[in-house]
Amino acid sequence: MTEAASPTFRSDVTVELVRSAATDTDVLWAARVSTAGEQSLEELQRDPEKSKGLINFLMRDRHGTPFEHNSMTFFVSAPILVFREFQRHRAGWSYNEESGRYRELQPVFYVPGQDRKLVQVGRPGKYEFHEGTPEQHEAVSGAMERAYREAYAAYQEMLAEGVAREVARAVLPVGLFSSMYATCNARSLMHFLSLRTKDERAKVPSFPQREIEMVAEQMEEQWAKLMPLTHAAFNAHGRVAP
Ligand SMILES: Cc1cc2nc3c(=O)[nH]c(=O)nc-3n(C[C@H](O)[C@H](O)[C@H](O)COP(=O)(O)OP(=O)(O)OC[C@H]3O[C@@H](n4cnc5c(N)ncnc54)[C@H](O)[C@@H]3O)c2cc1C
Repeated sequence: MTEAASPTFRSDVTVELVRSAATDTDVLWAARVSTAGEQSLEELQRDPEKSKGLINFLMRDRHGTPFEHNSMTFFVSAPILVFREFQRHRAGWSYNEESGRYRELQPVFYVPGQDRKLVQVGRPGKYEFHEGTPEQHEAVSGAMERAYREAYAAYQEMLAEGVAREVARAVLPVGLFSSMYATCNARSLMHFLSLRTKDERAKVPSFPQREIEMVAEQMEEQWAKLMPLTHAAFNAHGRVAP
């Protein structure tokens, strides 16, 4: 039997855009078919200001469907606690996640970084988070690393006894890293971003957990490069999905 890997600890998440077919032009093409019919493709590049105006109009008046004719696939590596929240987003999202039944789970665990605020103040639904002291950070890292090591050793012990992976994994905590492919379109991404980021331009503020927000921020950065006019209109109209 090969020797078990020793646990490693991460404070960051990975988000890679692995495939995309997503441009502002896709939105215009879809919207203009309403009035230009099959001429709509020719109309696209004629007047950039008009195009910007149309995207703003669609966003403001919440004509959402033209924002669905595009596709982005992201590879995400993050703790399971993020995936539990992420996969609640049902509409316009497709997911495939690594299996804990078919492969041995690797010992990569989440430990909050020094910039992660640790202290929760306020009432449910409207918490504020304040900086932790150095002692609190030390307590968090110490307790988490200890618990992770123990849990992973128990997992290994069961595998060594010939117990199935799907049974042994029950001891592993939600701080374990998992990975998935997530495919969405601009409309479903905007809905996700409206709920999973905290931004002062938002008409309806949200209070996401920091770890899913770290994923959302990286997705937004990559999407903004693909669809700058749509991204600007999303911000200008209060970060509400059309
Ligand atoms: C800050 C925050 C705290 C949260 N806390 C909790 C919690 O304590 N417990 C908990 O269980 N969840 C919690 N959630 C998850 C939340 O309830 C949603 O499941 C999640 O945000 C996905 O939102 P959604 O349903 O709008 O998205 P999607 O599933 O992507 O749906 C998008 C939109 O499609 C429409 N839609 C989709 N499915 C239906 C349907 N079946 N019927 C009618 N319309 C539909 C709705 O308009 C919906 O907004 C929390 C979310 C946030 C952002």
